Amino acid sequence: MRRNRKVKILATLGPASSEEAMIEKLFLAGADLFRINMSHASHDVMRTLIARIRNVEKRMGRPIGILADIQGPKLRVGKFANTKVTLTPGQTFTLDNNEAPGDETRVFLPHPEILESVKAGDRLLIDDGKLHLKAIKCDGKSIVTEVISGTSISDRKGVSLPDTLLAVGVLTPKDRADIEAVLATNDVDWVALSFIQRPEDLAEVRKMARGRVGLMSKIEKPQALERIDEIIELSDALMVARGDLGVEMPLEAVPGIQKQLTRACRRAGKPVVVATQMLESMITAPVPTRAEVSDVATAVFEGADAIMLSAESASGAYPVEAVATMASIAQKVEEDQHFTGIIHAQRSEPNPTGADAISLAARQIAETLKLNAIVCYTASGTTGLRASRERPAMPILTLSPIVKTARRLSLAWGLHCVVTEDATDLDDMVNRACRIVVSEGFGGPGDRIIITAGVPLGTPGSTNMLRIAYIGSDGVTGI
Ligand code: PGA
Ligand code: MN
Repeated sequence: MRRNRKVKILATLGPASSEEAMIEKLFLAGADLFRINMSHASHDVMRTLIARIRNVEKRMGRPIGILADIQGPKLRVGKFANTKVTLTPGQTFTLDNNEAPGDETRVFLPHPEILESVKAGDRLLIDDGKLHLKAIKCDGKSIVTEVISGTSISDRKGVSLPDTLLAVGVLTPKDRADIEAVLATNDVDWVALSFIQRPEDLAEVRKMARGRVGLMSKIEKPQALERIDEIIELSDALMVARGDLGVEMPLEAVPGIQKQLTRACRRAGKPVVVATQMLESMITAPVPTRAEVSDVATAVFEGADAIMLSAESASGAYPVEAVATMASIAQKVEEDQHFTGIIHAQRSEPNPTGADAISLAARQIAETLKLNAIVCYTASGTTGLRASRERPAMPILTLSPIVKTARRLSLAWGLHCVVTEDATDLDDMVNRACRIVVSEGFGGPGDRIIITAGVPLGTPGSTNMLRIAYIGSDGVTGI
């Protein structure tokens, strides 16, 4: 089963998409990877979802990536006696250390360090900025605020503090426990870290992970942008987390930051995901707005590796339609006459390595000869990522004996990942590549492909060979 697009779709699972049959429908509609949001999923729910995804994977015969998204130091208010209250601009409203249910005058803020750090004049943005409060009196135990705009607040809504310097580390005790539980499954491919502020924030998780998962930094704090090059260097992938980024930064700054981050990641050859509100109106409607279609298209034109659905697939009324809509927008954009030119304008120079030189040469040869596919033998996945970085016009098939490599690479642009044993010799390498190109639907007898590999076969980091092959009349033997 092949996709007719290069960009990948990352769909968040939730109450609307927890059943195995629904996960399968989302995969069939175009979801290449699934996100489990640890802000909401218990460890039991996480394990159940993983098992269901792996069942779908087995039935579909295609590697599927799983990303566990760690909540990070996301601040939330407590609960209200009646779930929700209505406020009036101009009134005062207090956040305090009293665990009693909230009402029209106050609510519990279960973060003592925040009660101590906020100063008079600081803004408190609740529920992605829908409610704007301004601190007027702070005594370390409570924050009296004035309601500036917005009229409602309800249970467990998020709090952003763009003006307050927080001394909190990036991992909460809940995060550590969640990461341990994720790693213990030995079945998750990516861990996403929320509210990364500095490169050091990655170090602890890197140590815990010991290479078992890829680390994705979610960029949603202005502080992260100040040291973005170092953060990219230390991450395996990035997410442009526009939800919180758009609260912490002026909204109008977000599109430029999205461009900056997608370009920087493409230069580095690290997968980049564009996330949040991509098809927001599809939470309640079966069709998107024109503006949303255009937003998805922009991310595809930028060459993002993946585009993400959040509530659209997790809790909306039209999860399958949302995935299918994303897939059809992506396919149409990639067929557009301007697509190749726009993508190529942002291509950057190769690094002076064998893998990069060969990836560049493979793309040029494949484009010159109009070959059907680039086939790339990659054990660890590194060579696959360098081939993806070239953003070639034709599909790249990555062949790896390691199923975890195939799943992790499912995030990367243009890669169709296949699990297969290492080739035994050069003939087997060519024949195996031809056979897989045919069986996966990328070509047939008489077509030509290009193969990259490291010889001797199976030696990591040794990409040193390019081979053009004809698929023979039996569809199995290359010439
Ligand atoms: P979230 O992250 O959905 O976990 O908040 C994405 C974002 O903030 O955009
Ligand atoms: Mn976020």
